[in-house]
Amino acid sequence: MSPVPPRVLVVTTPDTQTHDPGTMDYPVRQVAMQEAIALARAAGVPLEERQATGVPLALLKTVHCRRYIKRLSASIERHPSRAWTMPDAPIVAGTWMAALHAAGAADLATQYLAAGGPCRRAFLAVRPPGHHASADRAQGYCYLNTAALAARLLQDRGIATRVAILDVDAHHGNGTQALLPRLGETVYASVHGAGYPGTGFADEPPRCWNRTLSGDGGGEAWLAALDAVATGLVSTRPDAVVISFGTDALRYDPVGDLGLTQEDLDTGVCRALERMAGIPVISVMEGGYHLGNLTQAVRRHLHTLATK
Ligand SMILES: [Zn+2]
Repeated sequence: MSPVPPRVLVVTTPDTQTHDPGTMDYPVRQVAMQEAIALARAAGVPLEERQATGVPLALLKTVHCRRYIKRLSASIERHPSRAWTMPDAPIVAGTWMAALHAAGAADLATQYLAAGGPCRRAFLAVRPPGHHASADRAQGYCYLNTAALAARLLQDRGIATRVAILDVDAHHGNGTQALLPRLGETVYASVHGAGYPGTGFADEPPRCWNRTLSGDGGGEAWLAALDAVATGLVSTRPDAVVISFGTDALRYDPVGDLGLTQEDLDTGVCRALERMAGIPVISVMEGGYHLGNLTQAVRRHLHTLATK
Protein backbone atom coordinates (compact mmCIF):
# COMPACT_ATOMS: atom_id res chain seq x y z
CA MET A 1 0.00 0.00 0.00
CA SER A 2 1.43 3.39 -0.93
CA PRO A 3 1.92 5.93 1.90
CA VAL A 4 -0.72 8.63 2.41
CA PRO A 5 0.52 11.86 0.76
CA PRO A 6 1.15 14.69 3.23
CA ARG A 7 -1.71 17.19 3.64
CA VAL A 8 -0.20 19.78 5.97
CA LEU A 9 3.26 21.31 5.89
CA VAL A 10 4.42 21.95 9.46
CA VAL A 11 7.21 24.48 9.76
CA THR A 12 9.11 24.39 13.03
CA THR A 13 12.01 26.53 14.19
CA PRO A 14 15.27 25.67 15.93
CA ASP A 15 15.24 25.64 19.71
CA THR A 16 14.46 29.15 20.94
CA GLN A 17 15.26 28.60 24.59
CA THR A 18 17.65 31.53 24.37
CA HIS A 19 14.61 33.79 23.93
CA ASP A 20 13.37 33.57 27.48
CA PRO A 21 12.01 36.88 28.69
CA GLY A 22 11.44 35.21 32.04
CA THR A 23 7.77 36.14 32.09
CA MET A 24 5.75 33.91 29.78
CA ASP A 25 7.70 30.65 29.74
CA TYR A 26 8.28 30.59 25.99
CA PRO A 27 10.44 27.44 25.74
CA VAL A 28 7.89 25.29 27.53
CA ARG A 29 5.22 26.38 25.13
CA GLN A 30 7.41 25.38 22.22
CA VAL A 31 7.66 21.94 23.80
CA ALA A 32 3.84 21.88 23.99
CA MET A 33 3.69 22.53 20.25
CA GLN A 34 6.16 19.71 19.55
CA GLU A 35 3.96 17.42 21.63
CA ALA A 36 0.90 18.49 19.63
CA ILE A 37 2.65 17.76 16.33
CA ALA A 38 3.71 14.32 17.59
CA LEU A 39 0.15 13.57 18.76
CA ALA A 40 -1.33 14.62 15.42
CA ARG A 41 1.16 12.44 13.58
CA ALA A 42 0.41 9.50 15.89
CA ALA A 43 -3.31 10.00 15.17
CA GLY A 44 -2.62 9.59 11.46
CA VAL A 45 -2.71 13.23 10.32
CA PRO A 46 -0.43 13.23 7.25
CA LEU A 47 2.18 15.92 7.92
CA GLU A 48 5.34 17.04 6.20
CA GLU A 49 7.76 18.70 8.61
CA ARG A 50 10.44 21.25 7.73
CA GLN A 51 12.55 23.56 9.87
CA ALA A 52 12.92 27.29 9.16
CA THR A 53 16.42 28.69 9.11
CA GLY A 54 15.80 32.45 8.97
CA VAL A 55 14.78 35.04 6.41
CA PRO A 56 16.77 37.46 4.22
CA LEU A 57 16.64 41.00 5.60
CA ALA A 58 15.50 42.27 2.21
CA LEU A 59 12.27 40.30 2.66
CA LEU A 60 11.77 41.50 6.23
CA LYS A 61 12.03 45.07 4.97
CA THR A 62 8.87 44.59 2.91
CA VAL A 63 6.99 44.56 6.23
CA HIS A 64 9.22 46.18 8.88
CA CYS A 65 11.16 49.44 8.87
CA ARG A 66 14.87 49.27 8.13
CA ARG A 67 15.72 51.17 11.33
CA TYR A 68 13.61 48.91 13.51
CA ILE A 69 15.24 45.77 12.06
CA LYS A 70 18.66 47.26 12.69
CA ARG A 71 17.82 48.05 16.32
CA LEU A 72 16.28 44.64 16.96
CA SER A 73 19.21 42.78 15.40
CA ALA A 74 21.68 44.86 17.43
CA SER A 75 20.00 43.66 20.61
CA ILE A 76 22.14 40.51 20.35
CA GLU A 77 25.22 42.53 21.30
CA ARG A 78 23.87 45.01 23.77
CA HIS A 79 20.83 45.43 25.93
CA PRO A 80 18.37 47.62 24.07
CA SER A 81 17.36 51.01 25.30
CA ARG A 82 14.03 51.11 27.11
CA ALA A 83 13.28 54.17 25.02
CA TRP A 84 12.09 52.07 22.10
CA THR A 85 11.05 48.74 23.61
CA MET A 86 7.63 48.16 25.08
CA PRO A 87 7.34 46.80 28.61
CA ASP A 88 5.35 43.84 27.30
CA ALA A 89 7.95 42.90 24.67
CA PRO A 90 11.13 42.30 26.65
CA ILE A 91 14.24 41.78 24.57
CA VAL A 92 16.98 39.42 25.66
CA ALA A 93 20.08 38.15 23.86
CA GLY A 94 18.21 35.39 22.02
CA THR A 95 15.22 37.43 20.93
CA TRP A 96 16.48 38.43 17.50
CA MET A 97 17.34 34.91 16.37
CA ALA A 98 14.07 33.50 17.69
CA ALA A 99 12.04 36.19 15.91
CA LEU A 100 14.10 35.77 12.73
CA HIS A 101 13.42 32.03 12.67
CA ALA A 102 9.70 32.61 13.27
CA ALA A 103 9.55 35.03 10.33
CA GLY A 104 11.63 32.55 8.33
CA ALA A 105 8.80 30.05 8.64
CA ALA A 106 6.69 32.36 6.43
CA ASP A 107 9.53 32.51 3.91
CA LEU A 108 9.85 28.71 3.84
CA ALA A 109 6.10 28.04 3.61
CA THR A 110 5.55 30.48 0.74
CA GLN A 111 8.58 29.13 -1.14
CA TYR A 112 7.12 25.65 -0.70
CA LEU A 113 3.70 26.70 -2.01
CA ALA A 114 5.24 28.58 -4.93
CA ALA A 115 7.25 25.50 -5.87
CA GLY A 116 4.04 23.43 -5.99
CA GLY A 117 4.73 21.24 -2.96
CA PRO A 118 2.08 18.58 -2.34
CA CYS A 119 0.59 20.32 0.75
CA ARG A 120 -1.61 23.36 0.13
CA ARG A 121 -1.99 24.00 3.86
CA ALA A 122 0.80 25.00 6.22
CA PHE A 123 1.04 25.44 9.96
CA LEU A 124 3.87 27.61 11.27
CA ALA A 125 4.67 26.32 14.77
CA VAL A 126 6.57 29.42 15.77
CA ARG A 127 7.55 31.34 18.89
CA PRO A 128 7.50 34.22 19.58
CA PRO A 129 4.11 35.25 18.13
CA GLY A 130 3.83 38.24 15.81
CA HIS A 131 0.38 39.83 15.35
CA HIS A 132 0.95 42.76 17.74
CA ALA A 133 4.23 43.76 16.01
CA SER A 134 3.90 46.73 13.65
CA ALA A 135 6.38 48.13 11.13
CA ASP A 136 8.56 49.76 13.77
CA ARG A 137 7.43 48.48 17.15
CA ALA A 138 7.57 45.32 19.26
CA GLN A 139 4.54 44.84 21.48
CA GLY A 140 2.63 42.13 23.33
CA TYR A 141 5.43 39.53 23.19
CA CYS A 142 5.61 40.05 19.41
CA TYR A 143 8.71 41.28 17.51
CA LEU A 144 8.37 40.39 13.82
CA ASN A 145 4.96 39.93 12.24
CA THR A 146 5.04 36.46 10.69
CA ALA A 147 1.39 36.52 9.52
CA ALA A 148 1.87 39.84 7.74
CA LEU A 149 5.08 38.62 6.10
CA ALA A 150 3.25 35.48 4.93
CA ALA A 151 0.53 37.65 3.34
CA ARG A 152 3.14 39.82 1.63
CA LEU A 153 5.12 36.84 0.30
CA LEU A 154 2.00 34.99 -0.90
CA GLN A 155 1.48 37.93 -3.25
CA ASP A 156 5.12 38.59 -4.14
CA ARG A 157 5.62 34.94 -5.05
CA GLY A 158 2.58 34.82 -7.30
CA ILE A 159 0.54 32.44 -5.14
CA ALA A 160 -2.28 34.93 -4.47
CA THR A 161 -3.58 38.27 -5.64
CA ARG A 162 -5.73 38.92 -2.57
CA VAL A 163 -5.00 37.41 0.84
CA ALA A 164 -7.50 37.17 3.68
CA ILE A 165 -6.06 37.19 7.20
CA LEU A 166 -8.39 35.67 9.79
CA ASP A 167 -7.29 36.34 13.36
CA VAL A 168 -8.82 33.99 15.95
CA ASP A 169 -6.51 34.98 18.82
CA ALA A 170 -8.29 36.40 21.89
CA HIS A 171 -6.59 39.76 21.22
CA HIS A 172 -6.89 42.11 18.28
CA GLY A 173 -3.92 41.88 15.89
CA ASN A 174 -3.25 45.59 15.99
CA GLY A 175 0.19 45.14 14.41
CA THR A 176 -1.20 43.23 11.45
CA GLN A 177 -3.96 45.77 10.93
CA ALA A 178 -1.47 48.64 11.06
CA LEU A 179 0.66 46.87 8.43
CA LEU A 180 -2.17 46.53 5.88
CA PRO A 181 -0.91 49.46 3.73
CA ARG A 182 2.26 47.40 3.14
CA LEU A 183 0.36 44.22 2.26
CA GLY A 184 -1.10 44.93 -1.18
CA GLU A 185 -4.67 43.66 -1.49
CA THR A 186 -4.72 41.92 1.88
CA VAL A 187 -7.91 42.08 3.95
CA TYR A 188 -8.13 41.42 7.69
CA ALA A 189 -10.75 40.15 10.13
CA SER A 190 -10.64 39.59 13.86
CA VAL A 191 -12.91 38.70 16.78
CA HIS A 192 -11.37 39.61 20.12
CA GLY A 193 -11.94 40.65 23.71
CA ALA A 194 -12.41 44.25 24.78
CA GLY A 195 -9.20 44.57 26.79
CA TYR A 196 -5.65 44.48 25.47
CA PRO A 197 -4.49 46.12 23.20
CA GLY A 198 -7.61 48.33 23.08
CA THR A 199 -7.92 48.43 19.28
CA GLY A 200 -10.04 46.66 16.67
CA PHE A 201 -13.32 48.55 16.71
CA ALA A 202 -15.92 47.80 14.10
CA ASP A 203 -15.53 51.17 12.37
CA GLU A 204 -11.75 50.92 11.95
CA PRO A 205 -10.07 51.18 8.52
CA PRO A 206 -11.33 49.84 5.21
CA ARG A 207 -10.43 46.26 4.36
CA CYS A 208 -10.94 45.29 8.04
CA TRP A 209 -13.78 43.44 9.72
CA ASN A 210 -13.49 43.66 13.49
CA ARG A 211 -15.81 42.52 16.28
CA THR A 212 -15.14 43.19 19.94
CA LEU A 213 -16.75 40.92 22.51
CA SER A 214 -17.12 42.23 26.01
CA GLY A 215 -16.72 39.77 28.85
CA ASP A 216 -17.34 36.07 28.64
CA GLY A 217 -20.11 35.84 26.08
CA GLY A 218 -19.32 32.19 25.46
CA GLY A 219 -19.10 30.26 22.24
CA GLU A 220 -22.38 31.31 20.69
CA ALA A 221 -21.51 35.01 20.62
CA TRP A 222 -17.99 34.27 19.37
CA LEU A 223 -19.20 31.99 16.57
CA ALA A 224 -21.80 34.53 15.44
CA ALA A 225 -19.17 37.27 15.39
CA LEU A 226 -16.68 35.06 13.54
CA ASP A 227 -19.29 34.19 10.92
CA ALA A 228 -20.00 37.90 10.46
CA VAL A 229 -16.36 38.90 9.92
CA ALA A 230 -15.71 35.85 7.73
CA THR A 231 -18.57 37.05 5.52
CA GLY A 232 -16.59 40.25 4.98
CA LEU A 233 -13.46 38.31 4.02
CA VAL A 234 -15.33 35.98 1.67
CA SER A 235 -16.95 38.95 -0.10
CA THR A 236 -13.51 40.02 -1.36
CA ARG A 237 -12.96 36.62 -3.02
CA PRO A 238 -9.50 35.95 -1.58
CA ASP A 239 -7.23 33.40 -3.21
CA ALA A 240 -5.21 32.56 -0.10
CA VAL A 241 -5.87 32.60 3.65
CA VAL A 242 -3.55 33.36 6.53
CA ILE A 243 -4.89 32.35 9.94
CA SER A 244 -3.49 34.05 13.02
CA PHE A 245 -4.08 31.04 15.24
CA GLY A 246 -4.11 31.90 18.94
CA THR A 247 -5.41 29.51 21.56
CA ASP A 248 -5.85 32.13 24.30
CA ALA A 249 -9.57 32.53 23.55
CA LEU A 250 -10.05 29.12 25.16
CA ARG A 251 -11.48 28.66 28.65
CA TYR A 252 -8.92 28.65 31.49
CA ASP A 253 -6.35 30.64 29.54
CA PRO A 254 -4.61 32.90 32.07
CA VAL A 255 -4.42 35.82 29.59
CA GLY A 256 -7.47 35.65 27.30
CA ASP A 257 -11.00 35.99 28.70
CA LEU A 258 -13.37 34.80 25.97
CA GLY A 259 -14.10 31.44 27.61
CA LEU A 260 -14.41 29.34 24.43
CA THR A 261 -14.50 25.56 24.46
CA GLN A 262 -12.22 23.58 22.19
CA GLU A 263 -15.34 22.65 20.22
CA ASP A 264 -16.15 26.34 19.66
CA LEU A 265 -12.67 27.09 18.32
CA ASP A 266 -12.68 24.03 16.04
CA THR A 267 -16.17 24.85 14.74
CA GLY A 268 -15.30 28.49 14.03
CA VAL A 269 -12.13 27.67 12.12
CA CYS A 270 -13.82 24.81 10.22
CA ARG A 271 -16.74 27.00 9.14
CA ALA A 272 -14.44 29.77 7.96
CA LEU A 273 -12.24 27.35 6.00
CA GLU A 274 -15.29 25.73 4.40
CA ARG A 275 -16.33 29.15 3.12
CA MET A 276 -12.89 29.68 1.58
CA ALA A 277 -12.36 26.14 0.36
CA GLY A 278 -9.82 25.17 -2.25
CA ILE A 279 -7.34 27.98 -1.66
CA PRO A 280 -3.93 27.78 0.06
CA VAL A 281 -3.90 28.29 3.83
CA ILE A 282 -1.00 29.35 6.03
CA SER A 283 -1.83 29.19 9.72
CA VAL A 284 0.54 31.01 12.06
CA MET A 285 0.81 30.30 15.79
CA GLU A 286 0.05 33.40 17.85
CA GLY A 287 -0.86 33.55 21.57
CA GLY A 288 -1.86 30.75 23.93
CA TYR A 289 -0.82 30.57 27.56
CA HIS A 290 -2.42 27.43 28.97
CA LEU A 291 -0.19 24.51 28.08
CA GLY A 292 -2.86 21.79 28.08
CA ASN A 293 -5.10 23.93 25.88
CA LEU A 294 -2.25 24.73 23.52
CA THR A 295 -1.31 21.09 22.97
CA GLN A 296 -4.87 19.94 22.35
CA ALA A 297 -5.82 22.95 20.23
CA VAL A 298 -2.79 22.65 17.94
CA ARG A 299 -3.33 18.91 17.56
CA ARG A 300 -6.95 19.45 16.56
CA HIS A 301 -6.09 22.41 14.33
CA LEU A 302 -3.63 20.22 12.37
CA HIS A 303 -6.46 17.72 11.89
CA THR A 304 -8.78 20.50 10.70
CA LEU A 305 -6.17 21.80 8.25
CA ALA A 306 -5.73 18.28 6.87
CA THR A 307 -9.42 17.59 6.39
CA LYS A 308 -11.27 20.85 5.61
ZN1 LIG B 1 -3.50 36.81 22.34
